[in-house]
Amino acid sequence: MPSGRTHSLINFSVLGAGMMLWQVLGRPADDTPGLSVAAGMIIGTVWITPDLDMRGVKVDAQRAWGPLGAVWSPLRMLSKHRGVSHTYLRGPLLRVAYLAAIAALLLLLVRLCTGTPWNSPLPSLPVHLSTAPPVKVLLWSYCGYHAAQVLHLIADRIPLSFKRL
Ligand SMILES: [Zn+2]
Repeated sequence: MPSGRTHSLINFSVLGAGMMLWQVLGRPADDTPGLSVAAGMIIGTVWITPDLDMRGVKVDAQRAWGPLGAVWSPLRMLSKHRGVSHTYLRGPLLRVAYLAAIAALLLLLVRLCTGTPWNSPLPSLPVHLSTAPPVKVLLWSYCGYHAAQVLHLIADRIPLSFKRL
């Protein structure tokens, strides 16, 4: 299994190559898809990786979360290392759904504590944070995030003998 550093190196190399290709081929007038994919790939490389399921070892992604990394503890206790977390479709979707559920619970808690009605924005948040990003940005970001997960899983399958070369 490659180290977190190796996973990051692979993912950022692919991202860098993709960005260079994007420049060479001529950037489209709308930068949103490319930048969203890049942002998703960075998120999927640094903060939300399949190795968040590892117990007893602090992987790079867990360290990147700092004290907030405890949010992944329930998921880590429920899934074994290289179980569902290391699948190509369910694993990435599970992590995003898990994080969305945590965010929804926090939002629910904030609304209940502040007495804010469901149909109004939270008054204490800056305007740009109180509105959801466009669906297009979320979808392209998810594509980048998912690509990072797939690269991780492919790298995990590289045999040890090949890695020593
Ligand atoms: Zn892994």
